Order: sequence, then structure tokens, then C-alpha cells
Amino acid sequence: MITALAGGVGAARFLRGLVAVVPPERTTAIVNTGDDLVLHGLYICPDLDTVTYTLAGVIDPATGWGRAEESWRVMDQLGRLGGRTWFRLGDMDLATHLYRTQRLSEGVGLSVVASELAAAWELDVRMLPMSDDPVRTVLRVPGQGEVSFQDYFVRQHHDVTVESVSFAGVEDAAPAPGVLDAVAAADAIIICPSNPIVSIGPIVAVPGMRQALESRRERVVAISPIIAGAAVKGPADRLMRELGHDASVVGVARLYGALAGTLVIDRADEDLAGAVEAQGIRVVITETLMSTPAVAADLARAALASVLG
Ligand code: GDP
Ligand code: CA
Repeated sequence: MITALAGGVGAARFLRGLVAVVPPERTTAIVNTGDDLVLHGLYICPDLDTVTYTLAGVIDPATGWGRAEESWRVMDQLGRLGGRTWFRLGDMDLATHLYRTQRLSEGVGLSVVASELAAAWELDVRMLPMSDDPVRTVLRVPGQGEVSFQDYFVRQHHDVTVESVSFAGVEDAAPAPGVLDAVAAADAIIICPSNPIVSIGPIVAVPGMRQALESRRERVVAISPIIAGAAVKGPADRLMRELGHDASVVGVARLYGALAGTLVIDRADEDLAGAVEAQGIRVVITETLMSTPAVAADLARAALASVLG
């Protein structure tokens, strides 16, 4: 069994490669829910949906989120009414949030809903939220106090300075059913190329997860989301710097060193391999920019080979 810790877009691209090289029914994705939000009374799970839509082949390839060939009639009407439209929800996408919200209101756990949605898309990958309990990523921004993740990321285009990041509710959150077993029983555990602070950070912060990963460290391989000192997309590099980390593969190695025995870095960072290994983590050097599904599949193969031999 292969288990992957996943955020949104970076993770989804990687997972599409992973399921091309291992049977999807032997694959479990443990997905960040710190980005979740309630808007218009609807329960929205951006990372779970990005991963699900990508594996289903219905993701909008231009944005990496939402549905391809989407229409926006509801948002247009909402705008005319003066409603909140900064978080865009397409017409087809809304069906997912309606379904999820209704099922949750019936008392069903988020992990059950996630597997129902995956089944509706005929996915064989096991899709698990990190927790069925609410955890909210909160960022402290000078002059604004605490800001919710989607306010920071979408409304403010992550164009503000962040002083600190916390995961509200995480102390009281339990790993979703199956999550700890998926770590304990995996032949390989992959930390996807996701934002280490706000995508992987919340998953590791769920009680029991850090210890579970540390005890499997030799089977854990991480893929750096930082290439040549920059995030491929999004604020990972800036967030790392602002929170006092080196925005480089060495900074990633320091963040993941206690959890992962191996770090996959890009050829562009070959000169830093020694500095990464000095952090006590093995290095694999390969192409990590997933410009095509074939590159993502090769990356998955390299990551798996590093722990499975
Ligand atoms: P989000 O929830 O949509 O922000 O998604 P993730 O946290 O999963 O992904 C964002 C991270 O993925 C960013 O830090 C990017 O640098 C990284 N990323 C995106 N595409 C690639 C890629 O092709 N290769 C690598 N190595 N990292 C990537
Ligand atoms: Ca996310």
C-alpha cells in the first residue's frame, strides 16, 4: 500500500502520476482540510475537491482548481444581488458542495462524504480527509490580526506579510478513521510537492500524525515544492522566508528532516545536495517540474524507488 500526504494543486498533479505507476486501489491520499470553509452555508473542501477532480480528469487545467468547461451563472446572479463572489464557485462545482453539505447535515462524517464523492467519480484511490473534525488554518497579518486561509489566499491573493500560522481546533481533532493505519501499514509514504507550511503543516499537526510519521521515517519520502529557491506556484517560498525558514531545498529538508528519510529535489538544485544531506536526509535528484503527466509519473517512480528499492 502507498500512502500520500496531499495539499491541493501540487499534490493533485503528483497523484495523477502516482496512479499511473501503482494500482490506484493500493493508494491512499490523506488530504489537508485546513483550507476548508463555510460560505453561503455550504461546506467547501478546496484541497479534497482539487485532488478528486484532478484524478477524475475533470479539473480545469488552466487554474488547477474547479471544473473544466464550467459555467458561472449562479456567481453572476449572486454578484447582481451583491452577494459574496470573491470565492468563485462554478455551477457544476456547486453540486459537490450541495451534496457534501447535505450529507454532513445528516450526521455523516467528512471521510464518508469524501469516499462517496470519490466513488461517484469512479476513483479507486482511497481519499481520506486528515480529520473529520474541523481544523482551520489561520494566518496572523500585521494590521489585520487573524485572517482565515481563503481570505489570505484568494481574497488577498496571498499578497500580504504573514507573521505566524496556526491551525485552530487541531488539538481537539482526531485523525479521520483509517488515517493512522494508512501511515502504519504503508510500504511507502510520500509527502507530495505541496506547501510545507499550509498544506502539509496541518496534516502533521493532527494529534498522533507526527509520531506516526517519525516512526516510519525510513519509508517516508518527500518531494520538494521549492525548485531553485522558488515555489512553482503560490506563496510557499514567501511564507517560508517570512516564518524564518530558508526558501530552498535545504529549508525544506530542515522542515521535513524528522519525518522523512529521503527528499527528492530538482536537478536545478543539484549543487545543494550536499547541504541537504548534511541535514541527515538522503537526496534523490531528478526532474520535479511536472509539466506533463509523464513527468509526474517518472517523478512518482523515482520517489517510490528511493524507499522500495
Ligand atoms: P494548493 O493547496 O493548491 O496550494 O496546493 P499544494 O500545497 O498541493 O501545492 C502548492 C505547492 O505545489 C507550491 O508550493 C508549488 O511550489 C508546488 N508545486 C506545484 N507544481 C509543482 C511541480 O510541478 N513540481 C514541484 N516540485 N512542485 C510543484
Ligand atoms: Ca490548499
